[in-house]
Amino acid sequence: MFEFSAWLGFVAHDILKYLIPAGFVFFVTRKLFAKAIRGRRIQKVEAGRHQIIREICWSLVSATIFASVSMVGVMGLSTLGINQVYFDISDYGWGYAIFSLVLMILAHDTYFYWTHRLMHLPAVLRYTHLLHHRSRTTTPWTAYSFDPVEAFVQVAFAALFALLIPLNPLILLIWSLHMVIRNVIGHCGFELYPRTMARSRWFGWISGVTHHDLHHQNAKWNFGLYFTWWDRLMGTEHPEYLMRFDRAVGLAKEDAISKGNNRVAE
Ligand SMILES: [Zn+2]
Ligand SMILES: [Zn+2]
Repeated sequence: MFEFSAWLGFVAHDILKYLIPAGFVFFVTRKLFAKAIRGRRIQKVEAGRHQIIREICWSLVSATIFASVSMVGVMGLSTLGINQVYFDISDYGWGYAIFSLVLMILAHDTYFYWTHRLMHLPAVLRYTHLLHHRSRTTTPWTAYSFDPVEAFVQVAFAALFALLIPLNPLILLIWSLHMVIRNVIGHCGFELYPRTMARSRWFGWISGVTHHDLHHQNAKWNFGLYFTWWDRLMGTEHPEYLMRFDRAVGLAKEDAISKGNNRVAE
């Protein structure tokens, strides 16, 4: 089941899947459009070089863990016939393939919210999730900057989901691209979403960059990943989220917002 060259291929794939989007968003936000989006910076400070190096190093470790679990826990189990990975789209048709993708994204958002809340329990935090919160001001490179335990918890979702419903490798690939792109954007430090999105009746359920940025500023709030549903349902959405979003996109003034962010470990 284990071939070293195949494993290297998986690792290279996951590392590139991190480096390319993170590098691209970093270049776009810090160089290419730096002037144009200056007003959309969510926090006043920028992360230092040491933080970025640390984030990249831990992200490479996470990518290696993602690759290893994908190889053994998803593709390996499929060769043994244990999970429900199937290789021919026509077995279930495109309609099912799209349905399975939507379901996987919704299920992952739920899985993320609850495992994230679990990892914030004081007894667990230090051993699972504190490393991610060392980045109080985030950058695109923060996207995979996880403690190895957390990286394992994150990727375990794909392996578990493949046990439950039939999944095509193409759907797994699209799901993982969506995951990393949303993660990179969510940590980029600039509110890149449309100005009216957060208050929109139709699109307010999509988490803006400000949503997760506030979680890094004050870890009591905003545990969700892609959507705002769980935080709203469980009463854990930051009370100033909409106002902070408005400020980031230039719809509200700074003095309308109260101060009072706490560090996670304090
Ligand atoms: Zn984060
Ligand atoms: Zn957290």
